[in-house]
Amino acid sequence: MARTDPRRPPDLAVNHHTWPQLVAAMDGAITPCRNSSEWLSENPRQQQRAAALCRGCSVLAECRDFALAVNEPNGVWGGTTPTDRKAQRRRAQREKEAA
Ligand code: SF4
Repeated sequence: MARTDPRRPPDLAVNHHTWPQLVAAMDGAITPCRNSSEWLSENPRQQQRAAALCRGCSVLAECRDFALAVNEPNGVWGGTTPTDRKAQRRRAQREKEAA
């Protein structure tokens, strides 16, 4: 799977992934977060480091889009920190209102 820019605002109408779909995508995938607590850290430095490691993950897009779709408030998902996701949702909302 091609790597995706985690800063790209997702089109949730197109890219909505459910939890079962994400779990299925992760089956057999190399996921750097497996067996690591860094992805659940509340420390911004650790979150940034974890998010950078996500960029090598083959399910980055599915993971990020799931977290955005369910408005996941905690942890690093798909190369995004909680702060990144808040900013992406605000940006998507502004774009929706401007359209
Ligand atoms: S993209 Fe998702 S599954 Fe992959 S390493 Fe990051 S948090 Fe884990």
